[in-house]
Amino acid sequence: MTASTPITQDVLTIPRKAPEGGKVNLVGLTRDGMRDALLATGTPEKQANMRVGQIWQWIYQKGVRDFASMTNLAKDYRTQLDENFVIEVPEVVTRQLSEDGTRKYLVRIAGGHEVEVVYIPEEGRGTLCISSQVGCTLTCSFCHTGTQKLVRNLTPAEIIGQVMVARDDLGEWPEPGRNPKNETRLLSNIVLMGMGEPLYNFENVRDAMKIAMDPEGISLSRRRITLSTSGVVPEIARTAEEIGCLLAVSFHATTDEVRNKLVPINKRWPIADLLDALREYPKVSNSERITFEYVMLKDVNDSDEDARRLIELIKGIPAKVNLIPFNEWPGAPYERSSNNRIRAFADIIYKAGYASPIRTPRGEDIMAACGQLKSETERALKSRKQIAQEAGL
Ligand code: SAH
Ligand code: SF4
Repeated sequence: MTASTPITQDVLTIPRKAPEGGKVNLVGLTRDGMRDALLATGTPEKQANMRVGQIWQWIYQKGVRDFASMTNLAKDYRTQLDENFVIEVPEVVTRQLSEDGTRKYLVRIAGGHEVEVVYIPEEGRGTLCISSQVGCTLTCSFCHTGTQKLVRNLTPAEIIGQVMVARDDLGEWPEPGRNPKNETRLLSNIVLMGMGEPLYNFENVRDAMKIAMDPEGISLSRRRITLSTSGVVPEIARTAEEIGCLLAVSFHATTDEVRNKLVPINKRWPIADLLDALREYPKVSNSERITFEYVMLKDVNDSDEDARRLIELIKGIPAKVNLIPFNEWPGAPYERSSNNRIRAFADIIYKAGYASPIRTPRGEDIMAACGQLKSETERALKSRKQIAQEAGL
């Protein structure tokens, strides 16, 4: 990596303890983590596993936020829990509803930081787009989040907490004893496509997604969770092994020269390295196709030659190509490709045998579309000049 490559993992981390009175937040703890916490506060060893299961069900399946409501636990034990622990999720500061039904939440996390979460209702399913970091250390030149200076990793509690506050708002905490199937849920899918690079916050994202997939947790199939990465090559195999969810990759260009400008992490892990890692991915995780995300930027990456090069590059990888019309934001140095251009590009990919859906921008009226997320309140922004310079424009 050269000195000028703007890649760093040097982000703030905060302890997993809840601030109030030194009580530990039970949200976001792994099963082992919660077991240890319970043992340390006097739960007898032989009961610990059972208690973890019971508490997980109250927290993640029933949406309970106070120990007093955990009626299958003895009263004394509930008091004991209350003395040592809290059940804390991020605070929803604002909620905006788009004309198309998309909901955008601004949630506040420790330290006064804010991140955005987007719920997208669709026919027969509903997808929650969650964030993994405040801001992003990467500086993709077409992405609004990349213009935000401040970065901090979200904790597992803050990551899974986004799912919990969305379920609060959707009123989707099932009656005790009833756990609807994935396909009948309002919140049936999770995409890690909000703010941040999930693979630069690997452990926390993994722990949160394990809760999302656990039958006593949020209980979503691993095939309903998609992690999107800009291409952190060394963490891709680990994602398959330790999370096993579906993978999307922000590809966006078909030559290293252009990708270096759009997705600067490409200078560190160029296209050939990225494709090698992706070729291995489905084998390890036994998952389905990899989604190649491709933002359509006028006269930058949208030619017929690009489409043909893309087909050559992804040959042999079970793939689908998701074409994302560029979503503009104030000061953005690019324009969206025309609809005709996007359709022509899609057609070439489709004829080569790959699904090539054009993503309909959702929630544009509330700035909830891909790449538009950035909390207004994080005021430390880069200047237009700096954005253009980093893009090599
Ligand atoms: N950091 C991760 C996940 C978040 S971005 C990643 O980059 O994959 C989710 C998707 O939105 C990525 O494919 C990203 O490249 C794309 N995106 C970012 N800004 C965009 C914009 N302005 N218009 C359209 N898509 C954008
Ligand atoms: Fe970060 Fe993804 Fe935006 Fe790039 S596209 S700056 S990796 S959030």
